[in-house]
Amino acid sequence: MVVLLNNFSGIYFHIPFCPKKCLYCDFFSVSGCPQETLKRYGKSLFNEAHYRLGELSGTKIVSVYFGGGSPTSMNEDFFRNFAGFAVKSGINLEDCEVTVEVNPADRSEKWIRNLKDCGINRVSIGVQAFDDLVLAGTGRRTTVADMRKNIPVFAKYVDNVSCDIIYGLGKNRDINQELMQIFELAPFRHVSAYRYSRPERENAPELLDEDETLRQEAEIRNFLQKRGFSRYEISNYSLPGFESRHNMLYWTCGSWLGIGAGAASFIRKTGVSSRYADDIEAFVSGEGLSSVKLTLKEKIEEFLLMGLRVKVGINLNDFKELFGKDFFELISEKAVLDLVSNGLLEFGENKKILKCTERGSDFLNAVLIKLFDVIRC
Ligand code: SF4
Repeated sequence: MVVLLNNFSGIYFHIPFCPKKCLYCDFFSVSGCPQETLKRYGKSLFNEAHYRLGELSGTKIVSVYFGGGSPTSMNEDFFRNFAGFAVKSGINLEDCEVTVEVNPADRSEKWIRNLKDCGINRVSIGVQAFDDLVLAGTGRRTTVADMRKNIPVFAKYVDNVSCDIIYGLGKNRDINQELMQIFELAPFRHVSAYRYSRPERENAPELLDEDETLRQEAEIRNFLQKRGFSRYEISNYSLPGFESRHNMLYWTCGSWLGIGAGAASFIRKTGVSSRYADDIEAFVSGEGLSSVKLTLKEKIEEFLLMGLRVKVGINLNDFKELFGKDFFELISEKAVLDLVSNGLLEFGENKKILKCTERGSDFLNAVLIKLFDVIRC
């Protein structure tokens, strides 16, 4: 398991463009923007990141992540400009995990090779399903044929390949069979498996019933565990040493700069969170950034929410460093011990770590509600 130290940090670039909106998507992204807008936006991203880099001083940047939206909307020049930005800003990409989220429908071999040339060493492929009927029902542009053609090309140029799968939608899916076919295309080292939650939209796919959803989830878990993957976070599985650094920074309270419309940042040493408005033009004009002021209770809730999602759990020394008081001064010890005796939480490393058991991870919401209720501040 990759455990990141407190002084590690990352940069997240948000690319809020998608050629077409999927029916189930709630992320901030827009479709139909002219190339000129994408160009101006891309330029602003690197200028803004360079300008704000001082906020990460005293930390070591270990992760850069391009998420979206669809980073595959951006052209080759955008990634060349990124490589130039890294040099100008003194970021050594060889020390970083540099991830791009990609849609397997979108790009040529030349575009993919350019990623590698520009320092990208990890791709996260939005597979979601390996069944054309399910894909069509979600409004995704990708087909099984696109994936058969392009996933091996991504794997040819980038060693560290991850994929996203969505479950809880698509009746009568044989997810085991889907995964077998996906794994024939590339040596995946990481899989994110997201549970579908239906957005309030007329044409969004139907939610499956709970039993069927849990059956699909169990199929994914069994498939991956048989292949040596470990579930290191509620929705994420990896081979040893291939946990996503970007994810781990979020869940272990590292610092990160989120750059782009709708992106959020958190700087550990100052405890300041900030966020850009969901507005592309405002971002390009250098506006729309605001600080987010959380109350102490909200900060503790965030800490618990992030930390208990991961297998390593929360470090009680980190809690003291962040909040200035011992964990049990601010959270009822009796309530925590009750959750331990019910087999939902457990201590590790001489009571310095508190984490969910496997069963606790399945009932994380209930665990969090109980803990949120007993925060004393
Ligand atoms: S590609 Fe991703 S971000 Fe874009 S609409 Fe589909 S799910 Fe949303």
